[in-house]
Amino acid sequence: ETKTALDYVNNVFEVVKMRNPFEYEFHQAVEEIFDSLVPVFSKHPKYMNHGILERIVEPERVITFRVPWTDDTGKVQVNRGFRVQYSSTIGPYKGGIRFHPSVNSSIIKFLGFEQIFKNSLTGQPIGGGKGGADFDPKGKSDGEIMRFTQSFMTELSKYIGPDIDVPAGDIGVGAREIGYMFGQYKRLRGAYEAGVLTGKGIGYGGSLGRKEATGYGTIYFVEEMLADKCLSFEGSTVIVSGSGNVSIYAMEKAIHLGAKVVACSDSNGYVYDENGINLETVKRLKELEGKRIYEYALEHPNAQYIEGCSGIWSIPCDIALPCATQNEIDEYSAKILVANGVKALGEGANMPSTLAAINVFLKNDVLFAPAKAANAGGVAVSSLEMAQNSARLSWTFEEVDEKLREIMTTIYRNSMKAAEEYGYQGNLVVGANIAGFIRVADAMIVQGVV
Ligand code: GLU
Repeated sequence: ETKTALDYVNNVFEVVKMRNPFEYEFHQAVEEIFDSLVPVFSKHPKYMNHGILERIVEPERVITFRVPWTDDTGKVQVNRGFRVQYSSTIGPYKGGIRFHPSVNSSIIKFLGFEQIFKNSLTGQPIGGGKGGADFDPKGKSDGEIMRFTQSFMTELSKYIGPDIDVPAGDIGVGAREIGYMFGQYKRLRGAYEAGVLTGKGIGYGGSLGRKEATGYGTIYFVEEMLADKCLSFEGSTVIVSGSGNVSIYAMEKAIHLGAKVVACSDSNGYVYDENGINLETVKRLKELEGKRIYEYALEHPNAQYIEGCSGIWSIPCDIALPCATQNEIDEYSAKILVANGVKALGEGANMPSTLAAINVFLKNDVLFAPAKAANAGGVAVSSLEMAQNSARLSWTFEEVDEKLREIMTTIYRNSMKAAEEYGYQGNLVVGANIAGFIRVADAMIVQGVV
């Protein structure tokens, strides 16, 4: 049976590579999931018979579009916009929008593909999708951001809706961009459809706790994983890469639980403070002033600023939390972390570890919390935002935070259970992939060939 399952998976993977040439990030995300699913197919051939894999790797719809806008000098600029509507099996397409110069169809497809399984793991009724543009928000004026975002939404609005596809933020898209997108959508639609976007401001339909959700959720998940081994954040030394929304709230909750966060970063470099990073400074610089992280070192003379991104992983720590971007930890960085005695790794970003890096962690018994499970808190609370919008009410911060904690604990337990059931005890990569897959696959079977 194992051979048949392996052949099945390999054949579908060949098709994926042929249909999506040179899309290496996408191939990487597919390979990671496929490796985990072999034991599922050998135990339950029904998934092969229903062509689940062949169907699930092919997005239901991919939209690529022109985004023209005028910059502050009056020059016309053009970017490329994307929305991948990957799977609507268990709910409307759901996933963020990323504005970053590296955005291309490989990046959006890998993110959209992972979103299917992540969203399924949350237990919420949300399908998988992702979007973005190769627009660089860095150095742009507020007016340029608004005009670009409005132009992006003018096209995207034709394809989304509260029961169709519900975008949110991701890298380069925060409260400001969501506000501009919502305003433009509302104007075009001529209706107040609050549930069309999540991550909205609190004053116009947003949910309390959404801003904190991804970072807090990552910490709640890692906390569970540590507790299973009688470990905790209390007194531990932590490194958190990035300094955006995920990173800031992961730092906040880790510090709250008694950890010392000694480093964080942006795409230019990192700051190291052996006495612990002052989070208030990072929040002000990043959330209010839009500054780069090197400014932190100007204000805190005992902190060092070091240029380059991967150096942050050579700082000795107990717990490493990559919260910046894909493939930020390669095999080399993973080996250094292990050599320095890292005990646990929690992925706040999407696919921050390469496949080789993941293997290094697993082989060396580093507790490893994979992105699909560990960063699912953001989209989980997005789903709670949709629920509040539908019911036209709003929950308190405490209510949302309580639900988030429960969801993260359930994801941890379900992933551990699935890993054990298929003979991979303690392997959360395999467990999360299997648990996320089975819910979608079973729903696909009962819904027929669509
Ligand atoms: N961009 C986030 C993610 O990667 C959140 C998506 C959402 O809230 O829809 O899951």
